[in-house]
Amino acid sequence: MATTEPAEKIRGGQPSIPETEPQQKRERLPLGPLQNIHVFWLAGMSCDGCSIAVTGATNPGIEGLLLGIVPAMPKMLLHHPVLSVEAGAEFVQPFRDAVEGRLEDPYVVVFEGSVADERIAQRTGGYFSAMGMEAVSGEADHGEVKHPVPTATWLHRMAPGAAATIAIGTCATWGGVPSAEGNPTGSMSVMDALGKDYRSAFGLPVINVPGCAPIGDNFTDTVFAVLLFLQGLGPLPAFDELGRPAWLFSNTVHQGCTRAGFYEEGTFAENYGDPECLVEIGCWGPVVNCNIVQRGAINHMGGCMQAGGVCIGCTMPGFPDKFAPFYKTPPGAIVSTGLSRGVGSVVRRLRRMSNREANRETRWDALNEVPTGWGHPGSRTMMDRTIHYFYERWQQMGSRRPGRRPGEEERFWGVDRPGVQGDYLDDSVTRDVTDRNKHAGGH
Ligand code: SF4
Ligand code: SF4
Repeated sequence: MATTEPAEKIRGGQPSIPETEPQQKRERLPLGPLQNIHVFWLAGMSCDGCSIAVTGATNPGIEGLLLGIVPAMPKMLLHHPVLSVEAGAEFVQPFRDAVEGRLEDPYVVVFEGSVADERIAQRTGGYFSAMGMEAVSGEADHGEVKHPVPTATWLHRMAPGAAATIAIGTCATWGGVPSAEGNPTGSMSVMDALGKDYRSAFGLPVINVPGCAPIGDNFTDTVFAVLLFLQGLGPLPAFDELGRPAWLFSNTVHQGCTRAGFYEEGTFAENYGDPECLVEIGCWGPVVNCNIVQRGAINHMGGCMQAGGVCIGCTMPGFPDKFAPFYKTPPGAIVSTGLSRGVGSVVRRLRRMSNREANRETRWDALNEVPTGWGHPGSRTMMDRTIHYFYERWQQMGSRRPGRRPGEEERFWGVDRPGVQGDYLDDSVTRDVTDRNKHAGGH
């Protein structure tokens, strides 16, 4: 009978040393340049506003992504319940193929709307939000009984195999309006539905692009950055601790608001349509993370304050309950507006003075008149001249003043500098000083 030597003995007794073996590399990233990527769009408790917002994106636009003409981007194969031309079983089939791993290309899941707690609907045999039909296990044997498949079920089936799962809009990112106090659906966000341990097939937690509706460009911008990363063509984009693209959501609305200067100077709108800061008629901008003022709503145009609207905090996890009632002064604003009124009343008077001065050419100061047919700008008062004299000295302290230094003019011009009486044959030039240092207030 043949005897079998232990493996170690045959190899000379060298035991394996697992610690020194190279660790298996996790086969995750990068994917390498992709030709195509499927985007499966699921709609839960949604108004379709996010879909509309995305169709308005311009930078990059959805058309470029669909045609595959955005540089460095794979062609996007979009499966969208409203925008796709397929319908019925033909539309649903690629979703099934994705779940069963039959797609040739990777896919991304985009979820719009909140995720309803379908167990509540099932108690009465119904559903809240569904797509496609299939037999519930056990029922097919008893005839052709089919039920709509909740989009929450599609999410749970598809998210684990997705290259990335992106929640678009505040309903999907934080629950939004369908999850407000008193709702009957138990609605929640994608993050709440999938849990904190969720990671996509390529290791990414849920990516959140909030807004009600979101800025379309915020979404395509994020998709662009994530796809660059998945292809190994770019770094992992920076996300904050809630999975928001940090480069889009780190600042508050107020920090980028075109009306923030009015706030600082303590002037506030009393009615809609007034140009000043809207905080006293209900704006929450100082405590809300959103970039709509800088980016605009569509094609860099519009946005809440640009259009005269207050911020109701629609991008925030606390929306809507923590911002209700809308259009009422936020309590915290009472302290800050009181302070800015006090400081602003002094600062804005000083600024108006500097502004008046900056609105005058130096020549007008020398001639002491403004040749405009549009009105009658007031002359500089003695007080203006005196204040500006000292202001200008302070402003130019340690620096060289504009213009020629005293004594240099002759060297450059041969005579006094142009524009003074001595240079002209007639008396059409009224300026009669050659050294502006003699001129109170300089220019
Ligand atoms: S309108 Fe709102 S965001 Fe803009 S300055 Fe006023 S408080 Fe800030
Ligand atoms: S400014 Fe406020 S209300 Fe407007 S989009 Fe941003 S978060 Fe929403």
